[in-house]
Amino acid sequence: MPPNCGNTSWREVGHRFYSLNQFLIGKFGHRVWKVSVDGRFNCPNVDGTIARGGCVFCDIRSFSPSRRLSIRSISDQIAEGVARLRQRHRVEHFIAYFQPATNTYAPADELRNLWEEAAAYPGVVGLAIGTRPDCVSDEILDLLESFTARTWVCVEYGLQSIHDRSLDWMNRGHHYQAFLDAVRRTRLRAIDIGAHVILGIPGETRDEMLATAREIARLRLHSVKIHNLYAVKNTVLADQVMSGTVALPDRDQYVAYVADFLEALPPDCVIDRLCGDAPQEYLVAPQWCLDKQAVRAAIEKELQRRDSWQGKSFPNGTITVG
Ligand code: SF4
Repeated sequence: MPPNCGNTSWREVGHRFYSLNQFLIGKFGHRVWKVSVDGRFNCPNVDGTIARGGCVFCDIRSFSPSRRLSIRSISDQIAEGVARLRQRHRVEHFIAYFQPATNTYAPADELRNLWEEAAAYPGVVGLAIGTRPDCVSDEILDLLESFTARTWVCVEYGLQSIHDRSLDWMNRGHHYQAFLDAVRRTRLRAIDIGAHVILGIPGETRDEMLATAREIARLRLHSVKIHNLYAVKNTVLADQVMSGTVALPDRDQYVAYVADFLEALPPDCVIDRLCGDAPQEYLVAPQWCLDKQAVRAAIEKELQRRDSWQGKSFPNGTITVG
């Protein structure tokens, strides 16, 4: 059976996948909005600890000192994010989403102060922490777990792909085993686990993308963010795209990839995102991902055309956690 969405299931209310919004309404009983905050972290894949240069798609200019000078407190950032949301919506409850860079790349005391400030902000009902799977010590996981007594906590690991060849191509600086290790240790605590994946990595076949979906299914992760591969200015990937070395999927290809991917996921895996986005002034390609609503509509239309939905090809049977 599909999971509950409030008092009814997401299939019963006409949806074809289990969106983050449906999950949050079911969990909290009302709408909850994610507000992005910047804890001024660096990344070990940029500062030379693991590698220099970062992932091929990452704009490492955002790690420059100027970013640090212009930054405001966590409370100020949440207040600004909420004010922006309130221009369009009635907003009462939020998740503080530590988004840019590697949000566990700091001493535990520093992390504690930032997370305390976010969790104490009025209306904040959860913390979402985006990070690398090779950058979570047991000490940091214990600290994160200590917040679960008073707020919802989800750690979002950058997985991107289960294929080490793809991770090497993107200069990720870790292999799939690091993700499995992080999931194993996180799962010992009351922390929900999300994964970020990219569809359309050069050289990955449809079967290889589906293998990533099946691993997410096997591990029974809480949520997944699905991104198309996109290039922003001043990145290695942008150079590769502009020189023609790398071809990005067109929208129809991507829509088919996502539909395949959703079909292979369990029906209770929350879909946090369906495509990547970047501000227009930074985006090199593809232009079609600027219209996220159109991409989402095209994915829903494709699932409708197939008479399909999230979990349609997900197998019944025993799930083991590796
Ligand atoms: S791990 Fe994240 S922050 Fe670090 S270089 Fe890669 S994409 Fe950028």
